[in-house]
Amino acid sequence: MVQSSVLGFPRMGVNRDLKKATESYWGGKISQRELLAEGKRLRGEHWKIQKEAGINIIPSNDFSFYDHVLDHIQLFGAIPEKYSKHNLDPIDEFFAMGRGLQSPHTPEAAAVDVPSLEMVKWFDSNYHYVKPTFQDGQNFKLSSNPKPVAEFLEAKEAGIITRPVLVGPVTFLALGKADRDQNVVPISLLHKLLPLYEEILVKLKEAGAESVQIDEPCLVLDLPPKVRNAFKPAYDKLSSLGGKIPELVVATYFGDIVHNYDVLPSFSSLHGLHIDLARNPEQLETVIGALGEKQLLSVGVVDGRNIWKANFKKAIETVETVVQKLGKDRVIVASSSSLLHTPHTLASEKKLDEDVKDWFSFAVEKTKELAIIAKAVTDGPASVREELEANAKSMEAKATSKRTNDPKVKERQSKITEEMFNRKSPFPIRIAQQQEKLNLPLFPTTTIGSFPQTKEIRIQRNKLTKSEISEEEYEKFIEREIEDVVKIQEELGLDVYVHGEPERNDMVQYFGERLTGYVFTTHGWVQSYGSRCVRPPIIVGDISRPAPMTVKESKYAASISKKPMKGMLTGPITCLRWSYPRNDIHQSVQAEQLALALRDEVVDLESAGVYVIQVDEPALREGLPLRQGLERDNYLSWAVKSFRLSVAGVQDSTQIHSHFCYSEFQDFFKAIADLDADVLSIENSKSDAKLLKVFVDEAYPRHIGPGVYDIHSPRIPSEDEIKDRIEEMLQYLKPEQLWVDPDCGLKTRQWKETKAALTNMVNAAKFYRQKY
Ligand code: GLN
Ligand code: ZN
Repeated sequence: MVQSSVLGFPRMGVNRDLKKATESYWGGKISQRELLAEGKRLRGEHWKIQKEAGINIIPSNDFSFYDHVLDHIQLFGAIPEKYSKHNLDPIDEFFAMGRGLQSPHTPEAAAVDVPSLEMVKWFDSNYHYVKPTFQDGQNFKLSSNPKPVAEFLEAKEAGIITRPVLVGPVTFLALGKADRDQNVVPISLLHKLLPLYEEILVKLKEAGAESVQIDEPCLVLDLPPKVRNAFKPAYDKLSSLGGKIPELVVATYFGDIVHNYDVLPSFSSLHGLHIDLARNPEQLETVIGALGEKQLLSVGVVDGRNIWKANFKKAIETVETVVQKLGKDRVIVASSSSLLHTPHTLASEKKLDEDVKDWFSFAVEKTKELAIIAKAVTDGPASVREELEANAKSMEAKATSKRTNDPKVKERQSKITEEMFNRKSPFPIRIAQQQEKLNLPLFPTTTIGSFPQTKEIRIQRNKLTKSEISEEEYEKFIEREIEDVVKIQEELGLDVYVHGEPERNDMVQYFGERLTGYVFTTHGWVQSYGSRCVRPPIIVGDISRPAPMTVKESKYAASISKKPMKGMLTGPITCLRWSYPRNDIHQSVQAEQLALALRDEVVDLESAGVYVIQVDEPALREGLPLRQGLERDNYLSWAVKSFRLSVAGVQDSTQIHSHFCYSEFQDFFKAIADLDADVLSIENSKSDAKLLKVFVDEAYPRHIGPGVYDIHSPRIPSEDEIKDRIEEMLQYLKPEQLWVDPDCGLKTRQWKETKAALTNMVNAAKFYRQKY
């Protein structure tokens, strides 16, 4: 029979229970015993959901109290000394690595003050993992109570034989890095690490595990030869253990593995291979050609990264073509990746309109889909006729829905002309006109948009949501907030003001709520890192702007300001990337629709007297496809075009700013330059000023404001520190190019430190103004 399998299940629970438990534990409100019990309860619930849905292969060790890569760091004893030397309790050591630890000296223990390990994006998803950090002479040691075995036994006790999940040895090393000042090349540690994989696999076998899922997602990347060449010896070694270890299924996801074709024979004596067909269906044939004679293929046909219902007809067709080649017993129907990236259950959504709700499928629903697809192929479509019919109906409803298709939007897209991507004149002409209009001094100072989101702001917003105050009362409140920040900026002596964004809950949600084509969930939380969850909006249809979105606030702000007021928008790529996109049209089409909506907003802002407009694109970089080459070039081309389309409708004298929360532009500088923004404000205070060299090397002519201080910390930078920072920047940038601003928006800060920091910043800018 064709089996069904889930590669991993979300950890948070139906009501973000895990978040609540870990945060309570950190805050000293519950004991460690209570935390562990909550973890156990959640794992049990999640196994039960999958079992009841009819899933044949249920994962274990996919759960984590923080991050699964961090679990492996602890499992293999790859714990840097700065953590291990305190002899903390294992759970506390685990959280210390994940989120840092500052604990005072007590009679029982010395003070601890350690930062967290670095956290980075898990491939191109919005999930973050903790980066393994290795030392020269790194050794490994299996933890005394290995989590994969403990959780396997826990499930077994509950009557479920699971398939434990391990991050594979090559991926674990390839995703790591040498610690500061260390020279070790992580992959060179493979011979030391492999014996621990043998050990843990033998233990799992002894505990009763029949098979193990070994995740090697780094196979979808462009790999350096050393990493590519590591697979064969590693997996030859593991397969030489034969019956002493469970059967191994190597899982890949988030891309195709065809470019690493020559690596595939390394797995051919293993039990099976998993591929992501939701993302890259075209890899199927090549991969089948590379399979070992008896090897199983796990086909990821249910998307683990998005929230759309699977198309049963299509999925069954795909699985059947594989069955024809391999036979039913060699095929597993699986989620394309772990379901970690989808919310828990659609059942929690009480406010979604029924028509769109019928198009979605979250983790719980996806497990059911997998079981249905497997049954349809095993027992024939008649065995699940009702489900297939219902599914065909929702596919049809979605395809023909008015919500999905708006002919007016399509018509407008078809009429986009080349000129619409270009400003009227080149930068030198524009900047002269802008200078005349705005009359800014050298080293102009500004901020990135938001000012502290105080408790009062949240209270008023809540009251509005609960209808405890009227729209007018809320608007009045927002106006007063704007008046306050304008006055504060006057007092501080800033040069380009912002309205402070008090009316915005979130930089994407705020716009999504004002655009046609978006819907929002009430419980659709997904883990971003540690206990932090996000609730991405969902793009369900063609996007348009029924009415201006920000003009009222910006216009009011401009009307009461003596200096230029900067309008503030979120760019098309960021709106797209921080939402669940549609899966029926290309993302470039969705970005273009967003761009057209924003373009109208930009033009309306200009007509309302707002002559500086910032369009934030912090998500541009993370959208970069994982591999170099055509796909990346294509992405950059449509991403840049959508930005340009959104801003190019203005007069030369209107100044367009864009903001990025990073300054690593080296690998895609051309795209940044092609945005043709008059002013870029970027993160730079924590990174090396040398990163700015790229602007010199490429003779970048436009204006740049590299952040002069870090807004992520409450620390107040001194005037001298900021001067030093500006001095460094002047080694790379011309005085007439340089703006002075913080690294990012100030919404997470308090007013006290914000005023102090900005005072020092303005003084530092004035100093240089005098000097030049
Ligand atoms: N304008 C936004 C703010 O100031 C920018 C946020 C961001 O770049 N992430 O909050
Ligand atoms: Zn930012």
